[in-house]
Amino acid sequence: MLLLFDIDGTLLVKGADAHAAAVVAALCEVWEVEPPPRAHGVEAAGRTDQAIARDILELAGVPAEEFERRRDDFIFATASHYERLVPDDLSDRLAPHATEVLAQVTEHPSYHCSLVTGNIQQVARLKLGAAGILYPFAEGQGGFGSDSDDRNDLPPIARMRAGQLWNGGDAWPAERTVVIGDTPRDIACARADGALVVAVATGPFAADQLAEADVVLEDLRELDAALASLS
Ligand SMILES: [Mg+2]
Repeated sequence: MLLLFDIDGTLLVKGADAHAAAVVAALCEVWEVEPPPRAHGVEAAGRTDQAIARDILELAGVPAEEFERRRDDFIFATASHYERLVPDDLSDRLAPHATEVLAQVTEHPSYHCSLVTGNIQQVARLKLGAAGILYPFAEGQGGFGSDSDDRNDLPPIARMRAGQLWNGGDAWPAERTVVIGDTPRDIACARADGALVVAVATGPFAADQLAEADVVLEDLRELDAALASLS
């Protein structure tokens, strides 16, 4: 079973302040705009960094084509600003039971751990490193907000990469993949790919708003049992 963990709201809670600041600093650097006050209203939960940035830029009067043209500069700038801004220690932002559950699934002989997150790849790795939970996630694995602006593209990308390592080069099968996330968008990206999905109510959405998932949990504590029920 391939486990595709989301980060914000799932493995970490309220750990995105420096990340949001890095995105804003990158927008200022690349397009020389100050994000307008209404940028605070741009929805972030479950969305990719690219999609959030494009919306903020549009509010600032920068057209979408301009974003496309300098997308790579934005990704590079966000990663370097985050490297400067990331707190040394994010372990106080770990979601309840995240550490013990990751230890459990990492040791499980038939589980492979990977990521599906709207975070830009380098931001994701720096963030998990600062929280002390980077070790289950091999470099080069996962689907990230730097790979696409559409979250629905990310599970197939993660399965393709997982196949290089664990399936003889063929994409890892969707029916043996579980997305673990905290928003309806995590559920939607799993469904779009034909993967299973476990939702956790540790982000901005309550359990009843996540009822479309195969399993809904209050937090990660019962994840191992939930995965066993799906296997
Ligand atoms: Mg999330």
